[in-house]
Formats: sequence, C-alpha cells, structure tokens
Amino acid sequence: MTEMEEQKAPEVISADKFENFSKWYNDILVISGILDRRYDLKAMFVWLPYGIKAMRKIKDVWDELFEEADIGEAYFPLLVPRQYAQMNDEWFEGFKNEAFWAQGGVDVDREEKYMLRPTGEPAIYPMFSKWVKTANDLPIRIYETVSSFRYESKQTMNLIRDREITFWYEIHTAHATKEESDKELELHFKINNEIWHDYLGIPAIPVEKPQWECFPGAVGAREYYTIMPNGRLLENGSINHLGQAYAKKFNIMYIDENEGDKKYAWQICTGNGGRYLAAVIATHGDKNGLIFPPRVAPLPVMIIPIFNTKDEELTEKILKYSNDIIPTLKRIGIKAKVDDRRLSPGQRFYDAEIKGIPVRIEIGPKEFAEEEVTLFRRDTFKRKKVKMENLANEIIDLLNDIQNNLYERAKQFYNERQKYFDDIEKAVDWIHNGGTAIVSYCENESCWDALAEKGEGFELVGTLIDRFEEAPCIICGSKTDKRGVYGHSY
Ligand SMILES: [Zn+2]
Repeated sequence: MTEMEEQKAPEVISADKFENFSKWYNDILVISGILDRRYDLKAMFVWLPYGIKAMRKIKDVWDELFEEADIGEAYFPLLVPRQYAQMNDEWFEGFKNEAFWAQGGVDVDREEKYMLRPTGEPAIYPMFSKWVKTANDLPIRIYETVSSFRYESKQTMNLIRDREITFWYEIHTAHATKEESDKELELHFKINNEIWHDYLGIPAIPVEKPQWECFPGAVGAREYYTIMPNGRLLENGSINHLGQAYAKKFNIMYIDENEGDKKYAWQICTGNGGRYLAAVIATHGDKNGLIFPPRVAPLPVMIIPIFNTKDEELTEKILKYSNDIIPTLKRIGIKAKVDDRRLSPGQRFYDAEIKGIPVRIEIGPKEFAEEEVTLFRRDTFKRKKVKMENLANEIIDLLNDIQNNLYERAKQFYNERQKYFDDIEKAVDWIHNGGTAIVSYCENESCWDALAEKGEGFELVGTLIDRFEEAPCIICGSKTDKRGVYGHSY
C-alpha cells in the first residue's frame, strides 16, 4: 500500500480476513476506532480513545501480574546517551543504523547525539551497574512500559511492525546466581502462558531459539508465535536468558563476600506490547468487526434501549429501566454503558458489533413489560431472554462462556493450521497454502539454514519445548526427539 492510499480512511470492512488479511486488518483498525493511520510519518499512527482503552485493558493485565510477582515498575528516559549505547559494541553495531537519533539544544553542529531507545538495555543496565555493589543489592527485578523506536526498513504494519513501538513493556532482572535466573525465566514463562491462555484466549506457541539466534554469550531464549489468519507466523513476545553476557558489557557485578572476588550478575529480560492486541484483533475478529474476549474487553456490556418513537412516556421508562442495570452490573465488577443515541437499533447494534463488545443487552417495550432483557452474544450472534432478577448471574455465566468459546475457536484454528510432516516437499506445499508445519529437526545450524532456503520468508522459528518420540530430521535424517515450528514468518 502506498502512503497516498493510506490517506483515504475506509468506511466498511471490504475484505475477508482469511482471503486478504492485511486489507481486513487495516480496515478494521480504522473503522472500529482503534487508530488513525493518516499521521504524516511512516509507520507511526495516532491512538484513538477506543484503541487506548483496548490497549490499556491488556496493559492492566500485565501490570497486575507483574505486581503479583513483585516486579517493580520503573521508568527510564527514552533518550540514551551515546556513551551508554556504545558500552555494548555488538548491540551498538546491530542497532546504530536502525535507530532514530536526536540532538538537543541550540548547537546543532555538536557531535554528541542521543539515541531514541530501540531497546531498553543501554538505558537500564548502566544504572544497574551503579546500583549493584554487593550480593545484597540483588536481585533487581523491574519493568517499564514505554515507546521504542526503530527505523524499520521491512514492510511495516500497525501494531505489528511500527517505527514507534508504543505500549512496549520490558522486564529486566539481575541475579547473583544462575540458579536464581533460571527460576526467574520459568516464572516469566508461566506469566506469559497465563496472559495468552486466561486473558487473550489464544493458544500462542512457545518455542526455544537456538544459540546462534541469541545474543552472543546468552544462555538461550524462548519466543511466542501467533498464527495470523493468512497463515503467517508472528513473533509475539520473548523471554531472554542473557546469562552474564550483558553484565560483562555493562559491568553489573558484585564482590562475593566469602570468596572476595568479583562476580557478574545473571540476567533475564522479556518484552512485548501492541502485538498482544494485534493477535487479539486478528484471532478473534470476524467480518462484522472486532470481538474482544470479555477479560480484556474495553467495554464488556453495551445496553441498547429500543425506543417507541410514538410513546415518549414509554421511552422514558425504558431508558430508566436500561440505566438501572448499570449499578447492578457495577456491583459484580462488570462495566456497562447505555447507548441512548436516538439512532435506529440496527445502527447501534452495528456500532457495538464493530467495536467487538462481547455482550449487548437489548431492551424494548416487550422486555420492559415482562421485566426481562434480551442478551445478545457477539461471538455466536445468539440471543437469549432472561428475567431481570437473574441478570447478574446470567451475565457472569455468559461472559465466561464467551471467553471460553473464543479460546476453543482459536484452538481449533491453531490445530487445523499445524500439521506434522516427515516429507519436506509436502511441508513446503502446506506452508504455501497457509499452514504451519511441525517437523523433526536435529538442531544443527545447517539444517536450520536449509529450511529457510525452501521459500521466500520461510523460517524455522524455533523448537517446541516438549520432547517427542525420536524421528529422522526432515533435512539430514539424523535421529532427534526435537520438533521445530516451520512456516512463513513476518
Ligand atoms: Zn538435521
């Protein structure tokens, strides 16, 4: 899509998500009020109020889980002094040309430049170095949610690959021993699984990355992948076991009291952000718009009174009856709003559907007369009449049921798309047709590379955490109990 074309805002969802995912995705982001793409800087966009609400619901989840795990929220400046950025030469070489650089003050010829953070390490670890003197200063366990900036040259896509990555959280920890850092890694694995499964309703696939894909000197990394409707694999969060690699570059060390020698800290870092929302939109949305899992819905319930235009007195009663529901739901922790605009019910139903509100309560003269309400669920389009006195319990059950149903639907999609192959040509065909291939893989770099060469954008993104019955590697034939996730990645 050219930048000129982006200037026209779409008015309807004009594509099917499985046939033309990027068109569907771009339409829905704008029409549902998540963002405005017309800001005149490539791969930067304006968050609209509904988008902020949606993102913040997900952010609330990670804030709460990190708080429960006693990981403290911090904030570091977005500008990184050049000398900090250069402390890790390998990192600097990798990022210097895809960073944005800023200059402050009036002396524009001054050589000193500030890097706009592409990742947190060079802003955070020089401070860790100042904070750690003895083993008692460890562990450090903090996170921040900020923007990151990268001058992306690949094809960009909002919330998936932007030049300003907004709502990006990063956890950084430092520990006295490897054992402690191993435990920390497992904790973050558990937290991320919980976010995916219990809140976002998506069976994201965790994989282990091979050594050569990690930072030199790191112990290892795990990454999550989500399958987009077009079959492409999207990296969606990572947990990195940095070992002592960064501690050595940034001098994060302490004096061991017993042995008297200097010891480097062990570190874990993890990060994700807007891609969670991208996965929610892509996984659960349909031809009518967004569908939010209730636990991350910006608004779980919309109440829509259906007016009788000829009887103003009755209309007032229906309106009051509708508004009275709000405190009832508030008492059980469910946020609801009344859409009392004098628009046709059809128009207001449409708006609630586009925005992915999980449940709408419809109240017309009949419901009012019989002290009932009609519940409509966004995921299946089914309606059910319930007595007003039972509303609280019915709503709780319905929201739980929608949450579970969306997960089951997503799981079915993931199961259909992932298939085990022992024949490379068949695996390649499957990927060309939008599938993800699971293949036996010996963990050698040459087989990794051979798989990447089978097609444009093809990649073995990592190996599944589980072990399997031994089978021949799909490339070299040597026996292995490891299986790789192989597909077309973003
Ligand atoms: Zn092999």
